[in-house]
Amino acid sequence: MTIQDEVNKRRTFAIISHPDAGKTTLTEKFLLFGNLIRESGTVKGKKSGKFATSDWMDIEKKRGISVTSSVMHFDYEGYAVNILDTPGHEDFSEDTYRTLTAVDSVVMVIDGTKGIEPQTIKLFKVCKMRGIPIFTFINKLDREGKDPFELLDEIEEVLGIETYAMNWPAGMGKRFLGIFDRLEDRFIQYTGNEEENVIPGSEYDQYPELTESGTFQSAKEEVELLQEAGEPYSMEAIQNGEQTPVFFGSALAPFGVESFFNTFLNMAPSPAPRKASGDLVAPEKEQFSGFIFKIQANMNPAHRDRVAFVRVCSGKFERGMNVTLHRTGKAFKVSQTQQFVASSRETVEEAYAGDIIGIYDPNVYRIGDTLVEGKNTFEYEELPQFPPELFKRATVKNVMKSKQFKKGMEQLVQEGAIQLFRGAKMDEYIVGAVGELQYDVFEYRLKNEYNVEVIFETIGERIPRWLKEEQVDYSLFDDRSKLVKDREGNHLALFKNDFSLRWFKDKHPDIELIDLFESN
Ligand code: GDP
Repeated sequence: MTIQDEVNKRRTFAIISHPDAGKTTLTEKFLLFGNLIRESGTVKGKKSGKFATSDWMDIEKKRGISVTSSVMHFDYEGYAVNILDTPGHEDFSEDTYRTLTAVDSVVMVIDGTKGIEPQTIKLFKVCKMRGIPIFTFINKLDREGKDPFELLDEIEEVLGIETYAMNWPAGMGKRFLGIFDRLEDRFIQYTGNEEENVIPGSEYDQYPELTESGTFQSAKEEVELLQEAGEPYSMEAIQNGEQTPVFFGSALAPFGVESFFNTFLNMAPSPAPRKASGDLVAPEKEQFSGFIFKIQANMNPAHRDRVAFVRVCSGKFERGMNVTLHRTGKAFKVSQTQQFVASSRETVEEAYAGDIIGIYDPNVYRIGDTLVEGKNTFEYEELPQFPPELFKRATVKNVMKSKQFKKGMEQLVQEGAIQLFRGAKMDEYIVGAVGELQYDVFEYRLKNEYNVEVIFETIGERIPRWLKEEQVDYSLFDDRSKLVKDREGNHLALFKNDFSLRWFKDKHPDIELIDLFESN
């Protein structure tokens, strides 16, 4: 196989959802298709939903892989599938956002009974902002849910993205009959068990139980309405993240999952060229290259081992090969690789664009680092900075340990575990995060790795807005609009709430306030 063939068959994606929408259940079904697990959860309810993860972790343990289920790789129907896990709401952190820089598409799972829930809008928006193709799976059709049109409207409104319903449900909950497959002009009947009965459009009249049902008829009319009034289907708009194909189904039943997976794999893009040092690097380029999007530290407390997650962007990675870290220009041999591959190997021997490899990190890598084969190096675009939403003032408990405190803080910031801001007027450390868990991890690691106890003082949720340097005027800011500096020395104001933000805008209309969420 040529590098091109390897690239073409790769599908690297993340599944994102709000908690309880069915991400685990859906992932579990995908793993079943890929023969990564043998059996679906046998216990009904929440526990079975978590089965896939724990099963996967068991596999990891048996193989001695110390990394949690962040990446799953398997072969399916000629595709090499890489699924990247994004931590749920409660474990939310910048890792979640950064993971999205390493994928080529996302599957967005929405609970059809709830629609889009507020706490995940940001995550969905980051995908939209980055132009990642989004494939939507509306789950739980076996339950009485929201009107499908209403769900499509919600997606369009909240994300500002067109929808294209790939299939359309006839009824829901107890009245659920099945789904119309719009592209193939056929009806997939829900039989209540795992078998799906496929009826071509020309044969509907042979099924009086359908044609005589009002539910079937009105759904059929809705499909005709969509055909006339809906947005046209556009592969180009999908690839640009401007249109999302929407699939209805049930992850649990399961119903519509296999056809969703097959259609998704068929439509989803393989790795595309990526920008590096001003040029585009093609995934089929001979020379291996990749970037680090995540560093996981101290998985094993006995050793301070860290694993750097590398998204391969071009060429062929081979274990033991010599690569150069662009930032330092240092070359080294990569032999301690970890696989997230659930085939029979423990270490990854080779990888291609789209694959994720874990390499041992003797404390030299940083998030965003580029690794390139040989001496002729280049650098992938910097990972975007994601605006934190939580802010705390950090001080060291024992002033005698200020030095370790600074050192630990700097290292952890470099690793991307947390974002650090300095007070503009007063010398103070303000630590920003996108999720509460980041503070717990930060505190724990400072204590364990640097033997420093930190005191956090909440300054609460804040709305960060960056300023244009020429417009920075210290006298305009007080505690309601706290002025701080980020790592690069750029000034930003942390507004206490919408009210103080609006008040400031009214009072100083000429000062431009930059929202990273809108401008990234
Ligand atoms: P996650 O938090 O997004 O990973 O959600 P889970 O996969 O753990 O699912 C949350 C709950 O919803 C579990 O109790 C699942 O059994 C249930 N669930 C998932 N998919 C479906 C579905 O299609 N229909 C119904 N009725 N329940 C589902």
